[in-house]
Amino acid sequence: MLKVENVCTYYGQICALDNVSMMVEEKEAVSVIGANGAGKSTLLKTIIGDLRPKSGNIQLSGKSIIKEKTFKLVSRGMTLVPEGRHVFPLLSVWDNLLLGGYTLPAKDRQQRAEEVTEPFPILRERKDQQAGLLSGGEQQMLAIARAMMTKPKLLLLDEPSMGLSPKLVFEVYDKITELHQQGTTILLVDQNAEMAIDFCSRGYVLMAGRLAGQGTKNALKESEIVQRSYLG
Ligand code: ATP
Repeated sequence: MLKVENVCTYYGQICALDNVSMMVEEKEAVSVIGANGAGKSTLLKTIIGDLRPKSGNIQLSGKSIIKEKTFKLVSRGMTLVPEGRHVFPLLSVWDNLLLGGYTLPAKDRQQRAEEVTEPFPILRERKDQQAGLLSGGEQQMLAIARAMMTKPKLLLLDEPSMGLSPKLVFEVYDKITELHQQGTTILLVDQNAEMAIDFCSRGYVLMAGRLAGQGTKNALKESEIVQRSYLG
């Protein structure tokens, strides 16, 4: 479904992704783990068209997307839940959801907002409140539900556990697991290696912009580099 081939992404002179290749098959749950500054967000931003790679190629369902605009990629079935959630704090919860459905015909957005909030009853209860008044965990749920508005086939999640208490991290991962079980293909990056590996069927390790390992969930858990650097 998604194929990243030998991608190099720079910020000016700084190389943030160095020859990274990875793939996600349809219906898979794939995680990328790595420390602060490893290049995880850069990878997702490059995939979604927010950054352009200097070299390499990215294919979505067999077609190169490295020149495609982000809004077109959303229409083609890929959405990103950004690091830090980025809900619109002064807008209501419901209006945040409706904005997430901007590529849908206007008449369908209310109905879709009803559908995406089914797994998130708290968002229905608080639909008229300003999104900025939600707790961190609730804002993460809102960011995920908002991304689901366009019925993505591939959902990209950047650090879904960031800034959340351990209890909320479990709740957020439970919801992501539910979305995966309902058929959404998921690629997530997280510093929380334990949660990210438990969630995935397969994963990658990024270190200083390079791939330092990859494998199935069990292979990752047992790998020396993961044990030493991320699982203590
Ligand atoms: P974190 O978990 O802290 O977000 P990350 O793994 O997502 O880390 P990136 O944000 O992708 O890492 O950053 C990768 C590298 O690129 C880091 O060295 C970072 O300092 C650098 N970098 C990121 N954004 C920029 C930018 N806008 N300009 C210059 N350098 C940047």
